[in-house]
Amino acid sequence: MMKIAFYDAKPYDKEFFAIEAEKRDINIQYFPFRLDHHSAKTATDFDAVCAFVNDKLDRKCLDKLSEHAPGMIAMRCAGYNNIDVSAATELGFRLSRVPAYSPHSVAEHAVALIQTLNRRIHQAYNRVRELNFSLNGLVGRDLYGKKAAVLGTGKIGRITAGILRGFGMEVFAYDAYPDEEWARSHDVKYTSLEEILPLADLISLHLPLTAETHHIISEEALGKMKPGVLLVNTSRGKLIKTRALIQALKDRRVGGVALDVYEEEEGVFFEDLSYEVLQDDQLARLLTFPNVIVTSHQAFLTREALSEIARVTCENLKLFQRGDSFLTGTAIVPENEQAG
Ligand code: NAD
Repeated sequence: MMKIAFYDAKPYDKEFFAIEAEKRDINIQYFPFRLDHHSAKTATDFDAVCAFVNDKLDRKCLDKLSEHAPGMIAMRCAGYNNIDVSAATELGFRLSRVPAYSPHSVAEHAVALIQTLNRRIHQAYNRVRELNFSLNGLVGRDLYGKKAAVLGTGKIGRITAGILRGFGMEVFAYDAYPDEEWARSHDVKYTSLEEILPLADLISLHLPLTAETHHIISEEALGKMKPGVLLVNTSRGKLIKTRALIQALKDRRVGGVALDVYEEEEGVFFEDLSYEVLQDDQLARLLTFPNVIVTSHQAFLTREALSEIARVTCENLKLFQRGDSFLTGTAIVPENEQAG
């Protein structure tokens, strides 16, 4: 029976992985802690490891893992910015991910955040529970007829663009590889970042985290945005320079911010810290703004997405055990380029 070391395990992971693992005769050991160079020794005697967005698979960690030779790293997420891919490839690991478990889950969460922020639902919810039925301070805006900028028109950005078109918004898009045919058929206009930042009433980020996109939302970009803009990030925290964002909020240049991801979320998001003292002053400051909503990297968290993540991950683990290629599109490094 194949043995898997599964890191940062949560009850909702177990629920869905248990079903798929049993079907394929896979034995999963669920570890509640994250994988990094300290915890890597716990992978001894396992055939593969399964990791998530806040595990830290840097060279140090990978070196440790390779001592115990679990030959496969199965990322149960789409993004893989937290893994040193060249080090892993050098060390002969095979790497899989789940590129598209449910882009709808993330796009729908982005839109839920947008409307919560715009219509002040987070404030209204608390207010009525205290029998405060006043509407003062809760004035929002119609999305209809306003301009939205979708940065990144991959799987998730396209669905978000479609939902925003459904509200009757004028949707602009920015992407390094524009797909003009998709844009034409969905009534979306590609534009440059310079052009769209001063015009957009709403900006939704759907870019991967790379060297080029790191801090793409900096002082400079924030300075160009239309006053009162709503900014939503469900992609990766490091797309936004938090210090610059806090300043823009203090200067009242930004109308509202919804974050499902945060620059320094590692070690904080996914954890219950309600009995701890929060050590991150920037996150603490963000949480004080009435026009900021933070969710804890939960955009993916639907039953459909969790079930698909478990299915694809377990299927790839089984394929690895048999020495077969991974499911189409799920290898992080094209398998014909894989060393060892
Ligand atoms: P995708 O790969 O399908 O699309 C990304 C798009 O960004 C592509 O169209 C690509 O051309 C474009 N792009 C890449 N680099 C660019 C650059 N430098 N400038 C402009 N455009 C660039 O990705 P996706 O599946 O749509 O995921 C989008 C983001 O959402 C990723 O960061 C992913 O990690 C994140 N994500 C978050 C959650 C969550 O729970 N919050 C869940 C899944 C994915």
